Amino acid sequence: MKKKLISVVVPIFNEEMGIKKFLDKELFPVLERLPYQTEIVLVDDGSWDGTLEKIRAMNTKIPMRIVVFSKNFGKEIALTAGIFYAKGDAIVMIDADGQHPAEAIPRLVEKWENGAEVVTALRGQNTTRHRLGSRIYYRLLRMMGMRNFVPGELDFRLIDRAVADEFNKFTEHNRLTRGLINWLGFKQEYIKVETKGRIGGRPTYGFKKLMALAGDSMVSMSRTPLIIFGYIGIFITVVSVIFGLFILIQQYILGDPLGLDWSGAVAMSVFVSFLVGLVLISQAITALYIAQIHIETKNRPLFVVDKKRSVGVDGDER
Ligand code: UDP
Ligand code: MG
Repeated sequence: MKKKLISVVVPIFNEEMGIKKFLDKELFPVLERLPYQTEIVLVDDGSWDGTLEKIRAMNTKIPMRIVVFSKNFGKEIALTAGIFYAKGDAIVMIDADGQHPAEAIPRLVEKWENGAEVVTALRGQNTTRHRLGSRIYYRLLRMMGMRNFVPGELDFRLIDRAVADEFNKFTEHNRLTRGLINWLGFKQEYIKVETKGRIGGRPTYGFKKLMALAGDSMVSMSRTPLIIFGYIGIFITVVSVIFGLFILIQQYILGDPLGLDWSGAVAMSVFVSFLVGLVLISQAITALYIAQIHIETKNRPLFVVDKKRSVGVDGDER
């Protein structure tokens, strides 16, 4: 019987400091000992340092494909491309910076052999600087209604072929791989791992980027902010129409029986707030159109592969 194939997907962006050490000292040895067929899918996410030269020069018996993006598309899209090109019966994704312990891959595979279809590594008990940040991040996601996130989940996980085939059908641009995989369901299992420090270079997902990610999720999840401004506009318009009519009738038609003696400036400011109300309403309507268009235009390709610089990539882009 042919041995099952395990694919390992590695998203890589400007990792020239540590990539060689990660592959040579951590990933290759683990995969060489694994009693399976293995392949590696490296996704170079538009690195502009010496990363690509370094990985092209790597030497290993394990079949290795290199998907080179035409520019930086972000880690989530890099993972997406890696999963798309991976051919394995199971697909493992792991960071290139050495923070995810490659030596835990056999444990992921073991859970899979015992029937799990998604095996996720959870951050163990060690105190890293990341922990507070990631707690805030998960709290934010939960507040925004994204409840299928388990705290401490890493992007270090294994998915079965069946899960990958379904994952490949997602077309949205604004995506979090773990959110989508959790959404798919299937039989989930977890293992605990201890994360490590980066081998070299600097992390690119700082606090700012995490906040932007959270903001993106919010905008793509809800149109509530736009609608609130629309309601404010309607309120202002209605109030100024009533007020304007009151001034018109009381002062100009009936000749000021209440003796208020309001100046033209009052009439003017009521008119101006009427206009502001109209502007807010029309903006909200425009925003609703844009939201629709935004949904419709999501079938742009998710990523662009630079085929000339890639290695072993023949599939179509999506
Ligand atoms: N990465 C990527 N594209 C990006 C940013 C990061 O492919 O635009 C890769 C990076 O090379 C690493 C992984 O994603 O393999 C995690 O990145 P990082 O260590 O910067 O994030 P963190 O560890 O803070 O989650
Ligand atoms: Mg990292």
